[in-house]
Amino acid sequence: MKRRVILLGPPGSGKGTIAARLQADFGWKHISSGYHLRREAEAKTAVGERVKVFLENGELVPDELVLELMEGRLLPELDSQGFILDGFPRTRYQAEALDQWLNRLGKPLDAVLFINCPESVLLDRITGRRVCANCGTVYHMRSNPPSVSGRCDVCGGELTQREDDTEIVLRKRLDVYARETEPLVAYYRAQGKLVVVNTASDPEIVYRAAVKALNE
Ligand code: AMP
Repeated sequence: MKRRVILLGPPGSGKGTIAARLQADFGWKHISSGYHLRREAEAKTAVGERVKVFLENGELVPDELVLELMEGRLLPELDSQGFILDGFPRTRYQAEALDQWLNRLGKPLDAVLFINCPESVLLDRITGRRVCANCGTVYHMRSNPPSVSGRCDVCGGELTQREDDTEIVLRKRLDVYARETEPLVAYYRAQGKLVVVNTASDPEIVYRAAVKALNE
């Protein structure tokens, strides 16, 4: 099975949900650049202070900062069972840097899973999304609500809405995605690594299609 994997897709396509399931089912390490950047911003570290404004505005954090952060997160995981990169790379520059790291270490990517999701679906998904402030579990107000309103089923933590999950910021993030990240579909297709999964209303169907695609 392919186990060094990138998840590619627009905000709201379900990358995080699929990555978390792959981690739980196969023991691969889920590495989300957005999660680590938000943690830095919340902890008010030196990097966090520099990235905060980009996160709030739905703009891409500059490549050098992201690469520094992700190199530190990814390289220690290269000997683990496998990894799933979620939200990284997002630019051609990042993709080329990642290829260089992995090729140098003789551990190239196995596959890039592209979650194909129409824009009409994304808005509903993102604006209804709630995240546990404590453990990061993701819910949706309509399609996947918690048993007790506002509380995480896993740890009882408080559910919050990400600051960049509003409609205005989402539209910006979608523009940025189309301009900077979508071209990576062609980049990885040319490498013969692209695997496409179409989204569906039932997350279970999407997950099963993803596992099947990674097994082929
Ligand atoms: P995400 O959680 O993947 O939706 O990312 C949230 C935000 O973090 C994005 O809107 C960007 O501001 C920033 N971000 C995450 N990953 C990257 C990346 N690879 N390159 C640049 N900015 C990023």
